[in-house]
Amino acid sequence: MTDIIGLQGYSADRWLPIGDGTELISAIDGSTVARMPDQADVGEMLDHARKVGGPALRKMTFQQRGKMLRALAEALGARKEELYALSSHTGATRSDSAFDIEGGIGTFFVYASKAKSMPDAHVMLDGGREAISKGDFQGQHILAPLTGAAIHINAYNFPVWGMLEKLAPTLLAGMPAIVKPATVGSYLTQAAFRIMIESGALPDGAVQLLLGSTGDLFDRLDGQDSVAFTGSAETANLLKAHPNIIANTVRFTAEQDSLNASVLGPDVKPDAPEFDLYVKEVVREMTQKTGQKCTAIRRILVPAAVIDPVQTAIAKRLGKMTIGDPREETTRLGALAGIGQRDDVIANLATLRDEAELVLGGAIPELEGDLQKGAFFNATLLRHDRPLDGDKIHAVEAFGPVATLMPYEDMGEAVAIANAGQGSLALSIFSRESSAVGQLVAGVSPFHGRILIVDRDNAEFSSGHGAALPHLQHGGPGRAGGGAELGGMIGMMPYLQRSAIQASEAILATIGEI
Ligand code: NAP
Repeated sequence: MTDIIGLQGYSADRWLPIGDGTELISAIDGSTVARMPDQADVGEMLDHARKVGGPALRKMTFQQRGKMLRALAEALGARKEELYALSSHTGATRSDSAFDIEGGIGTFFVYASKAKSMPDAHVMLDGGREAISKGDFQGQHILAPLTGAAIHINAYNFPVWGMLEKLAPTLLAGMPAIVKPATVGSYLTQAAFRIMIESGALPDGAVQLLLGSTGDLFDRLDGQDSVAFTGSAETANLLKAHPNIIANTVRFTAEQDSLNASVLGPDVKPDAPEFDLYVKEVVREMTQKTGQKCTAIRRILVPAAVIDPVQTAIAKRLGKMTIGDPREETTRLGALAGIGQRDDVIANLATLRDEAELVLGGAIPELEGDLQKGAFFNATLLRHDRPLDGDKIHAVEAFGPVATLMPYEDMGEAVAIANAGQGSLALSIFSRESSAVGQLVAGVSPFHGRILIVDRDNAEFSSGHGAALPHLQHGGPGRAGGGAELGGMIGMMPYLQRSAIQASEAILATIGEI
């Protein structure tokens, strides 16, 4: 890296002074990529969002805001190579970066398409009329955007998608956003943010970029603001318990740690196509984004009778994964986001190894030259033979290329093991036996936000275990945070207020036109 990027926040429609502070380090070779700016004036940002961004967005209809999202997606698409160039410094291979960059742009396109079937109006009807009396007096729920600011606090693993997946439903709903990316890869988020500003597609005040600390932002929020957080359960618990969040009933949604499981069906023998599909998916989930996906498979649940062949097949495939410089085409496993993040993985892996046996990996690879200063870590497979006696394997997330293989005896046990994660974002089932799939789905759905069922016939069309799609809910109960992002309208709900209107038909008929 030759030119060090001086990062700039964006407040009240202007770029803030160029940063010369804390260095942000390349995950590949330890070089300095960027420098952080000084603390921004969060009071100014909040004021501007409320007084300028919100009114400007609320002047537009849902359909107009959809067109704005499309223009932003096109602008990002036209300049995406600028993002790829920076993305490799986060440790990502080209294909990892595509997941982040194209996934984010695709989310904007899907929301733009969904807007076409939304009203060309400023409020949205929610459901139909409710008959509440014998005369001309009925009920109708409507949805209107909140008048405050949406605060987005993002995790480090998806510097682009993480910003865009929250912005799409927020902007379409009609709320301005203050985006606070995780510090470690914020140079990539800033680059994508800059493209959106330079596109000219956004009204004044619609988005602002807060780099570094949130300062006293949380003391200033009120009931018309909304916080969407992605990150660790520890930070989520700290922030959602902020006295001002509680006192002012500030909306708070969280996407946090998740010990996602993938289940190989009881019908699947080693020679079945589902067996190979399963092994490939597990390995892909362990290695894509170097395992730094909130939805990644952490627990591999297989029938006890086939655990050894599954272990052999996964280990063999993992053994072929080339680790190294993510800019090299042959590299399959890039680096973790930084040395600090690798230290967390190593610490959590040590905790998991109190219970589970190491099958493969578990160490820093020996690489050459400057790559020795990078944040690389070998793909690591653990095994626990009595998973219902385990505790940490269902609770501790090593946020890297780490997963634990575990056996189950019958469907009831598979459900119990899956649910021991106490709430997860995603679970997948590889089986074509409908009664087993039915039992599993009924048993695990209260604990899982999304369930993917794959067999030999649909595998080529499958979107994959780990892909959070804009069409479907992303979020899970309990440990996963209880949030519900994406999913079309579902993801817009934190930014819209539902009101029940009671009136005569003539008045109600005009409401949808407001
Ligand atoms: P983190 O330390 O909790 O940080 C998450 C975000 O919160 C970052 O933007 C961070 O900013 C910010 N933050 C930290 N302390 C804060 C405070 N006191 N006040 C305001 N903001 C604060 O989590 P992380 O280590 O970056 O992310 C890894 C975790 O995220 C993993 O456990 C993973 O499971 C989870 N994750 C979940 C999802 C999901 O959708 N469920 C997606 C991705 C990741 P700084 O970077 O500036 O500290």
